Amino acid sequence: MSRRCVWILTFVLFLGLTTGVERAATPAAAQAPLPNIVVLATGGTIAGAAASDVQAGYTSGQVGVEQLLAAVPQAKKLASLRGEQISNIGSQDMNDEVWLKLARRVNELTAMPDVAGVVITHGTDTIEETAYFLNLVIKSKKPVVLTAAMRPSTALSADGPLNFFNAVAVAANKEAAGRGVLVVINDWIHGASSLTKTSTTALQTFLSPVWGLIGTVAYGDAEFYRGPVGRNTVNSEFSIEKIKALPRVDIIMAHENMDGALIDAAVAAGAKGVVIAGVGNGNMTQAALDALAAQAKKGIVCVRSSRVPTGRVGRSVEVDDDKYGFVASLGLNPQKSRVLLRLALTQTKDVKQIQKYFDEY
Ligand code: ASP
Repeated sequence: MSRRCVWILTFVLFLGLTTGVERAATPAAAQAPLPNIVVLATGGTIAGAAASDVQAGYTSGQVGVEQLLAAVPQAKKLASLRGEQISNIGSQDMNDEVWLKLARRVNELTAMPDVAGVVITHGTDTIEETAYFLNLVIKSKKPVVLTAAMRPSTALSADGPLNFFNAVAVAANKEAAGRGVLVVINDWIHGASSLTKTSTTALQTFLSPVWGLIGTVAYGDAEFYRGPVGRNTVNSEFSIEKIKALPRVDIIMAHENMDGALIDAAVAAGAKGVVIAGVGNGNMTQAALDALAAQAKKGIVCVRSSRVPTGRVGRSVEVDDDKYGFVASLGLNPQKSRVLLRLALTQTKDVKQIQKYFDEY
């Protein structure tokens, strides 16, 4: 064999060996264990079913968690998934019993070293309230991601499967950690304090007005822009550990010719706090103001928020909050003000302290 042939053979052998090493490395890397994500199903349209794929009428909470997981096999490439059924209800029926059960389970799961994150499937009607509640009582930095759908699982162009896939991708993404509780829907990643439902039927119903998005996610590819607004999770001083029940707080919407009857009725029904979904910057008629001030004097905590979907309710802008002893909701809409006020009332009735909570959370 000529020296040239020996050289070529040696080179080919070397090439084979090195690419062999690479080939051997690839399967080992591919075998890196997938993160464990637990899916907690609560119901909603994402688990809804209709008799036909092109009808508006349907029933929420018909499909169980195992069926939900089986419907999106692609998600199993992103994470090792297992599911638990917490409830199977339309989120219009969401209640304290489910909230406490869900929050306790999320705290248990996120404390387990082998659980990387949690995905919660939910209805869209009250997802912003559940997300904000969890944001205040979950004691972990691990990703906790809620998702939902506007169309039932049986619909033509159902949005649930891709929303679920994206939610799993975000929960499995290390960059999602420490950003508070997130809601992933229609390619957007929302913070729990900012998102709100803005359309009864449109797919792009959720917006994060004023504070903006945490990020976006396209077919599982997530980009994060910023952190959440307000104290949350590990930095929150609220806890459900010792809580058996949450105090009653009612929301009353202001309108033309409003009197104080519903404010008094709420207190008579047992409300320890009242949130007014005021007109404009948290305003209401003088009659309603007088009724509210009378309740505030008796120790009922009264928060002024707004029925206007975006913008802040500032302290003492048109209403003298110091004089009346009210709390201004600042950036929180009425439904989230109610969540914060309920948790605040588990700690104190002091109006100054509660205003501080609204400043910080
Ligand atoms: N009513 C349904 C629910 O909130 C609506 C939905 O999920 O989109 O459960």
